[in-house]
Amino acid sequence: MEERNRVQIRKNDQVKVIAGRSLDKVGRVLRVMRDKNRVIVEGVSMLKRHTRANPSKNIKGGIVERESPIHISNVKIMCGSCGQATRVGHSLLSDGKKIRICRKCGSSLDK
Ligand SMILES: [Zn+2]
Repeated sequence: MEERNRVQIRKNDQVKVIAGRSLDKVGRVLRVMRDKNRVIVEGVSMLKRHTRANPSKNIKGGIVERESPIHISNVKIMCGSCGQATRVGHSLLSDGKKIRICRKCGSSLDK
């Protein structure tokens, strides 16, 4: 069963795409859109936008490449310790702090 809408991916996390047209690409999370359950990953799912020159608005024509948001269920976090794409577990530290851990090797995913 899927875990309820808990967003476990954060900005600056290293993630791997596990579905869709950017399959197996790895990149850094630039933005998390919590309300839409989507993330923007650096260099992943690039969209080409053709823009027309508009001198009055100082816009140059040409092709602009931009990342498009991908659904959060299509990415997995990369563990810095074991180097694998993993699911996120949670652990409670003795001081009461919650940290995210790698389900594969148990290392902390938070710095
Ligand atoms: Zn790990």
